[in-house]
Amino acid sequence: MLEVSAIRAGYGGTEVLRGIDLKVDAGEIVAVLGANGVGKTTLNMVLSGLVKRDSGAVVFDGERIDGLPAPEIVARGLIHVPEGRRIFPNLSVRENLECGCYRRAGAARKTNLERVFATFPRLKERHRQSAGTLSGGEQQMLAIGRGMMGEPKLLILDEPSLGLSPLLVEEMFALIAELNTSGLPIMLVEQNVVQSLQLASRAYILENGQVALSGPAETLRDDPELKRAYLGL
Ligand code: ATP
Repeated sequence: MLEVSAIRAGYGGTEVLRGIDLKVDAGEIVAVLGANGVGKTTLNMVLSGLVKRDSGAVVFDGERIDGLPAPEIVARGLIHVPEGRRIFPNLSVRENLECGCYRRAGAARKTNLERVFATFPRLKERHRQSAGTLSGGEQQMLAIGRGMMGEPKLLILDEPSLGLSPLLVEEMFALIAELNTSGLPIMLVEQNVVQSLQLASRAYILENGQVALSGPAETLRDDPELKRAYLGL
């Protein structure tokens, strides 16, 4: 579904990604994990066409997409829910959702909106409310709902649990599992190692702009190096 090969990228001569290889197969949840500043967001930005790669290739749904403009990548169904939600606080919940679907005809917009409201009843209840007045967890749901409006074939979630209370983190991870039950592949980019490894089938651990460890999540959960570095065990 998504195949990333030897991606290098950075900012103004500082290399952040130093040759990243990873893939997400149909129907999978794949976790991309790593500490602050390791380059996770930069990788997402490269995949969605917002930061230029210096070299390497990205193949999505059988076609090269590196070098395509961001709107073209979204139109192909690779949809990135950014870190920090990036909702429009002064627009209503419904208007924010419609932003995720502005290229589609009115009928598709309506169907997609109904689907999102069925998944997130809390957004339906609050559809007229200004998005800035939602709680942190609701804003994260809104950001994901806006992504769903674009009819994703693959969803990249950048730190969906960031800033949420432990209870809401549980709820968010349950919701991600639910989104995947219909077969939607998800690349879950997180600092929350324990819960991500419970949810994902496979994971990649980034260090210094490279993949330091990768494999099935259940193998990584028992990896002594990972336990030492990330879980303090
Ligand atoms: P976090 O979890 O804290 O968001 P991250 O793993 O997502 O971290 P990135 O945001 O990709 O990491 O940042 C990787 C490095 O690139 C950092 O050293 C950061 O300072 C740098 N960086 C990110 N964005 C820019 C930018 N627009 N211009 C210059 N440097 C940047």
